[in-house]
Amino acid sequence: MEEVERTLVIIKPDAVVRGLIGEIISRFERKGLKIVGMKMIWINRELAEKHYEEHKGKPFFNALIEYITKAPVVVMVVEGRHAIEVVRRMAGATDPKDAAPGTIRGDYGLEIGDAIYNVIHASDSKESAEREINLYFKPEELFEYCKAADWFYKEKRKAKC
Ligand code: AMP
Repeated sequence: MEEVERTLVIIKPDAVVRGLIGEIISRFERKGLKIVGMKMIWINRELAEKHYEEHKGKPFFNALIEYITKAPVVVMVVEGRHAIEVVRRMAGATDPKDAAPGTIRGDYGLEIGDAIYNVIHASDSKESAEREINLYFKPEELFEYCKAADWFYKEKRKAKC
């Protein structure tokens, strides 16, 4: 049985102000990933610094904090088979100019601003996913539920739906 993973996705301020929330969420749904937690928040400086603590001291750190706190974001926990790797590949390369067409950054980004404005964040490893999910979500804000197919084919799948 292959591992089902959870990963953290942030629809970043540039995507929110450009009206791309729906476009981005729908890509994850169409891929077959399950959204198990989601909310809109305005990240404050303290939370931003915690999230990006590994970049503290780098020349782009301040610009990165300004970018992620510039407007509200949508944070989501996305679940599925190999979700961490799958979502990273759907996101594309960090700099949207290098991101392949068909990826989220490749399709929706180009201009980068002071930091690299790149539409979404996606956890890069199991350790980051766990740390980042805990940073943004309480356990009771994450849900276990069955996809529609499991409702209709319950007997076949032996799912508890
Ligand atoms: P990462 O932790 O590697 O996902 O990087 C976090 C974010 O910092 C990226 O998504 C970019 O928005 C930004 N970033 C990363 N590297 C650079 C860089 N060299 N210059 C400016 N911004 C960067």
